Amino acid sequence: MKLQALNGFKDILPGDVELWQFVETIARSVFARFDFSEIRLPILEPTELFARSIGETTDIVEKEMYTFVDKKITMRPEATASLIRAYIEHGLYVQKPVQRLFTIGPMFRHERPQKGRLRQFHQMDAEVLGSQNPRIDAELMAMGAMLLQELGVSVSLELNSLGCPECRPAYRLQLQTFLTERFDTLCDDCKRRSSTNPLRVLDCKNPRCRAQVQAAPSILEHLCSACGQHFEEVQAGLGQLGVQYSLNKFMVRGLDYYTRTTFEFITTDLGAQAAVGAGGRYDGLIEQLGGPKGVPGIGFAMGMERLVLLLQQSAGGDALGRLCPDLFIAALGQAASDFCFGLAHELRSAGLRVAMDLEGRSLKSQMKQADKTGASWVLIIGEDEMKNSQGLLRNMKNQEQQQVELKAGTLKSLLQTRYIDGTEFSVKKILS
Ligand code: ATP
Ligand code: MG
Repeated sequence: MKLQALNGFKDILPGDVELWQFVETIARSVFARFDFSEIRLPILEPTELFARSIGETTDIVEKEMYTFVDKKITMRPEATASLIRAYIEHGLYVQKPVQRLFTIGPMFRHERPQKGRLRQFHQMDAEVLGSQNPRIDAELMAMGAMLLQELGVSVSLELNSLGCPECRPAYRLQLQTFLTERFDTLCDDCKRRSSTNPLRVLDCKNPRCRAQVQAAPSILEHLCSACGQHFEEVQAGLGQLGVQYSLNKFMVRGLDYYTRTTFEFITTDLGAQAAVGAGGRYDGLIEQLGGPKGVPGIGFAMGMERLVLLLQQSAGGDALGRLCPDLFIAALGQAASDFCFGLAHELRSAGLRVAMDLEGRSLKSQMKQADKTGASWVLIIGEDEMKNSQGLLRNMKNQEQQQVELKAGTLKSLLQTRYIDGTEFSVKKILS
């Protein structure tokens, strides 16, 4: 039997992994600027955690969870529930009234695999616990927008409010009546949803359902005054921070815990998998999971597969370039090989990313390799170069070549300048 990865589970190979690292590096940098701390959470949790938070009648809990039935444990389909479980378990609300936390890692959902949709996928999750301030909503969306902008992916932000336990029930009833009148035209899923979870019908992807709900009553016209005012202030905050958005009264999100602000970052560049990130407020969830009364929360999750796909489609090459070797050493002949084996090590200790061929291949083949790695510079050392302690340094961008000394002093200056120069390494500058 040929052993293969499971359907919907993917290896991330070198060449792609650099893009993943790039996404993560930018995210960590942006999260840090907004004063978020990292939290790392387990992959397995009690099944009940997800049933009670995400909701028994959601697609995720009904059909998509990987559960060990005998042990009543589930591989997390998302991170918010786990994060709140940890927040309560460790009393993080005692340490700080407002916690800003992020986590990055794999999630598991048994969905139909396709481009941008896997069974093991990865999310970057940011959550603010302990504040109801609408400025937090605006700030969080601004942070998401900044992250996407720094990644160079273009998206639009869609915004809605789902109200609260005060105003939503009346709206839900009105929507239910509306759906009952059109029951026969709905898809089978929505027929079921119209009684169990009518709001979900609003974002059904089936074109017939979509056409029907165009005329549905809007939640935004049914918000209570507190929710209405909160929503106004969220929008004012977005305005002040210069974040572009549009209202989407049909956006509901597939998890039951959301209240008030909900949002999605949408791209038009990935076909059907349009959402690269999504989130919202969940003011009742912490209490519902056994935490302190009345502690609100809000968060979002970005889907990393989709971000990487977008990078591959656009600025991927640039991003990759940042992670290429600084230097490729092409050694020819035994003496040069012996010398360069040590030289590579010294340069690596000095902080350079160095690649080298240890198999004694021809110059042509080594230059080909160097090209493939995307190294900025190649140092060529053969028998002649060894004799006069000189190497040939080639700039791979413009193909210019120059002789450089292979003495300890040169190495030392390489080393020093590396530190003065910070991350922007330029061999040419150092040696001239
Ligand atoms: P979708 O509408 O695409 O199914 P969702 O509403 O189920 O998304 P969330 O649970 O809110 O998504 O997760 C946030 C983000 O995680 C999504 O916007 C998407 O980028 C990503 N995501 C969700 N499910 C998957 C999956 N199966 N494979 C890859 N990425 C996913
Ligand atoms: Mg989904």
